[in-house]
Amino acid sequence: MKILVINAGSSSLKYQVFDMENETIIAKGLCERIGIDGHLKHTPVGNGKPVFDSDMDFPTHGEAIAAVLDKLVSEEYGVVASMDEIGAVGHRVLHGGSKFIASQLVTDAVKDAIRECFPLGPLHNPANLMGIEACEKAMPGVPQIAVFDTAFHQTMPASSYMYAVPYKYYEENHVRRYGFHGTSHRYVSAEAIRVMGLPVEGSRIVTCHLGNGSSMAAVKDGKCFDTSMGLTPLEGVPMGTRCGSVDPAVVEFISNLEGISVSETLTMLNKKSGVLAVSGVSSDFRDLDKAAAEGNERAQLALDMFNYAVRKYIGAYAAAMGGLDGIVFTAGIGENSPEVRANILKGLEFLGVKLDAEANNCRGKLQKISAEDSRVQVYVIPTNEELVIARDALAIVTAG
Ligand code: ADP
Repeated sequence: MKILVINAGSSSLKYQVFDMENETIIAKGLCERIGIDGHLKHTPVGNGKPVFDSDMDFPTHGEAIAAVLDKLVSEEYGVVASMDEIGAVGHRVLHGGSKFIASQLVTDAVKDAIRECFPLGPLHNPANLMGIEACEKAMPGVPQIAVFDTAFHQTMPASSYMYAVPYKYYEENHVRRYGFHGTSHRYVSAEAIRVMGLPVEGSRIVTCHLGNGSSMAAVKDGKCFDTSMGLTPLEGVPMGTRCGSVDPAVVEFISNLEGISVSETLTMLNKKSGVLAVSGVSSDFRDLDKAAAEGNERAQLALDMFNYAVRKYIGAYAAAMGGLDGIVFTAGIGENSPEVRANILKGLEFLGVKLDAEANNCRGKLQKISAEDSRVQVYVIPTNEELVIARDALAIVTAG
């Protein structure tokens, strides 16, 4: 069966098509500037056909999906003979609230639940739903599957997910920690348990998803026990442009100082903060590494703050789980920066972490980077959220 995987943003839509016979990607692409003008880059993989890369008119997600489907079956750029070969579409959905512990076949009730979570994921959930509805219209009868970023974290105990604010906000308004990047944490923690040959029961893994957005997870017995992002992706370690955890009083202080609303202040804390703001250089860790190497002290400080925050979470989660068997690094920074990994792990020898500097000098591939005599095994594991979405979609359609 072939499965189309869609990650719809407010003005963009990324896609991949998997042949699930051998879990290979047969096409991938990106629609950009939806609602502005429009551009499609479509890449057939492995069949020798050319890349399509051109401006198109995308007033809504509907036209973008139609253009993608057109390319998938086209003589010149296509990868399937007809749309009948696509057995299901898997959609990345940011927020599933407390409703979904696993991926779901899209029904009216599931769409209502995605809509109910609009206030919790105001940028992503409306776009994700637009992607689903555009596919329903363009491919009637093809099962649509929603895969939630929050689902993996639904196993957290209340002591991990509750905020100490008046209880009615939890009861009536569902204010609590949800966590994000769940599909990634789920994939890399399962891979870690597999490659380490650990029994799932009793395993204690910390997964570090370090990208433009970064989050940490404590995975105990193969299930999420705690995670660093919260009600929204703003909480946790400092990120590219997000501040991470701060004293909430900072919000009022800045909004009074600047004469701006709480919502404008939060936009600043989401988009103009993090390592970008501390360094004054960039949100991209490659730029920070370069600037720090040239002696830029604020770039060095931003890196130090990031590494320190990640290290603190590793220590906290080891304590939370009563010990530690493995640490996993994934996503853009986690997979590609030996320096950041080494600096994060500095000082964790007391926990039984011993890095193999030579093995750590790797990028973008599955690799054990701890020394043979390290009690805690440390791995780089490239994440693959799209494959998990395709696998979930396949499992749901073949079970149903
Ligand atoms: P997103 O959260 O948008 O999915 P990614 O997981 O793709 O982000 O991570 C993107 C980030 O990864 C970039 O902003 C950059 O900071 C970092 N990155 C990518 N390659 C490298 C590298 N070679 N060295 C250090 N950082 C890198």
